[in-house]
Parts: sequence; C-alpha cells; structure tokens
Amino acid sequence: MAEDLQARGTSPAALIAAAGRITIKVGSSLIIDRDGNAVRREWLQSLGADISSLVQQGKKLLVVSSGAVALGRGYLGLGASSKLNLKQAAAAAGQPKLMQAWEAALAPFGIPIAQLLLTLEDTERRRRWLNARATSEVLLAQSVLPVINENDSVATDELRYGDNDRLSARAAQMIRSDVLILLSDVDGLYTADPARDPAARHIAFVPEISEEIEGYAGSAKPGGVGTGGMRTKIAAARVAQSFGCATIIAAGQGLNPVRRLLEGARASVVAAKGSPASAYKQWIAGSLAPAGGLWVDEGAARALASGRSLLPAGVTAVNGAFERGACLSIFAPGGTEIARGIAAYTAAETEAIRGCGSDRIAERLGYVGPDEIIHRDDMVML
Ligand code: GLU
Repeated sequence: MAEDLQARGTSPAALIAAAGRITIKVGSSLIIDRDGNAVRREWLQSLGADISSLVQQGKKLLVVSSGAVALGRGYLGLGASSKLNLKQAAAAAGQPKLMQAWEAALAPFGIPIAQLLLTLEDTERRRRWLNARATSEVLLAQSVLPVINENDSVATDELRYGDNDRLSARAAQMIRSDVLILLSDVDGLYTADPARDPAARHIAFVPEISEEIEGYAGSAKPGGVGTGGMRTKIAAARVAQSFGCATIIAAGQGLNPVRRLLEGARASVVAAKGSPASAYKQWIAGSLAPAGGLWVDEGAARALASGRSLLPAGVTAVNGAFERGACLSIFAPGGTEIARGIAAYTAAETEAIRGCGSDRIAERLGYVGPDEIIHRDDMVML
C-alpha cells in the first residue's frame, strides 16, 4: 500500500539517520522513578550512550529535559500540590539535581553539558531568542550538549509554557533541528486512549495534522509525574512541522530509547514541511517587515549573489533605527532590493563599522562582535 511505503520511507530510523541536528525531549516520568524521588540513573546513562553514538556520527544534539519540579518535590518533601509557588520552589531545588544527573550520565562519554533555562518570553521576543540561539550555536560548535528546561522558578502562570513539549519545539526551531524526538511514556498517537479502549489503533505516520488527528490527541490522558499529554505533543509537532522539522513521538521507558527507535521500535512520526533552512529563509523573505535598509557597493552585491555574508566593508549607507535581530532590506548601488536578512548589529553599530574591515570592528565599537553585518545563513536573495 502507498501509505505503508510512505511510512517506511519516513520511519523514525530513517529520519534519525538522515538528520544533522536532533532535539530530544525527555519527560519527567522517564528521568525519575515512580515515587518521584530518585533519578533513574542507569536509564539516563543508557540515553547518554545513545546520544554519544549520534554525536560520534557528527550529528549535533540538544536535549530538553523535564524533571526539576518532580525532583525538587521529593528533595524538599513537598507534596504533589499544583500551587504555582510551590512548584517554583520545587523547580529551584530540583534543577541543580537534574543537571547533576545529566552530567553524571554524559561524563562517561566525555560529553560536557550546559544548562539553558528559558521562559516563554525568551523564545517569543526576537532579541532574547537570538541571544539564546547564539549561545546554543557556540555550545554546539564546542561539542557541548545544551540541556534546556523552562525557567519554572521565575515564569509566572500567564507567561509559561507549563509543559516541555511545546518548549522543545521552540528549542528545536532555535537550532534548526531536522528531527524532534519526544520521549515519554506513550509510544505514539492512537485513535483512542489505548489504556481504556482495546480497539484503539496506533498511527505510525501523520503527513498532515488534521482535525481528526487533533481529535485523537485529545483522547489521551497524561500519566504519572509528567505534565503534557498527547495534545501538547501534537501542538509541538505542529510548530516543528511548520519550520521543516519532523517529530517522532516515542516511548522511552526502556534502556537505550533512541537505539530502540533505530532498531524499529514503534512510534508515531509527524512529517516535516520542507527543511529547517528553507522554512527559515521563507520566514525572512515573507513574514518579516524590514525595519531598515542597507546600501552596498558593487563588490558586496556580487559577493552576496555568490552566497557570501555581508561584511561591514561593503556597506555604503544605513537607513532606519533598527535593533539587532531586525529584518533589513539590502539594496544594490542602483537602488534595487537584492536581499533581505537579519541584522547582527543595531543601526548605530552598523553606522559605526560600515566601510571598515572586519578586523577593525572591535576597535570601532570597543567590543568584539561578529565579523558579518548579516551572516549568509540569516540572508535570503530576492
Ligand atoms: N519544567 C518542568 C520540570 O522540569 C516540567 C514540565 C513538563 O513536564 O513538561 O519539572
């Protein structure tokens, strides 16, 4: 059947093998034992082994890990209260324990880890988002594994993700992941809650998140110490899909959960639309209103056309009062708009460094910044 063929071509194993960048979200119920007190160390180390083998293949990985609240509750002897202030206190106490556990799990493989605690504002405000993205890129370039969680201790109810499924989609977007793996206690999407309905059917491949799929997602209940249910997983998959990232919803309780996927364990795949790079460029070209303009000389216009970044030396004039992270139009000497891109500097900084060599940026600004005014990854030719 055509559907089966399609499902095979987009199996979790095939997607993981083809991916350059992968985000793995780990739910609380996997990291912490049933009593909510102790880290499942052997399991976490087995995931560490899986991560290590992917890293050795040259892939870049990022982890979004839950578990701070559950660990902190056990540590402080707090009950399972859902009061926000108690959760915030539990997260503050549990987060360092969570990171210790990750460090211990990755140390045998020589993989250093780093913590990023994000709030909704960090991912929705462009400037903060760009800072978080820049930090993640440096960590990845240094072969460090970024471990992200929501900054529960400071996030207030109205400004919270509240579940790490949706946060993980934003994190995946931030590093332009090809694949997002949501590890939890369910092995994917079913037509009904499999715990209650023996006729529930597993769905291996979701090309499009239709109303029917949304309906199936609504029937599953979150279990144990975790927060999200299937609904938040499908919401995450929808975000991921839109920026070119496929989502794998998989059960993770057993040892080596990623290796199991490579060996054919059952999971649901939500297809990507396009690639992360093409989605990002489309977004720059189509969804952002330019906040300013840069005029460039002939040499720079030619360099851009051949796929290079825009350096300060080629900029002849700056227009507009823009911030870092703003979308800018780039004009050739004749006045034609030739490209759009994301500014690495503010308007004032750009004005200060235009026309000079990249080696003189620090001298002009008094601090060291990127060599490019707009990096080629952040630019689209029109
Ligand atoms: N950020 C929460 C924690 O670390 C978990 C949220 C979730 O379970 O999705 O405990």
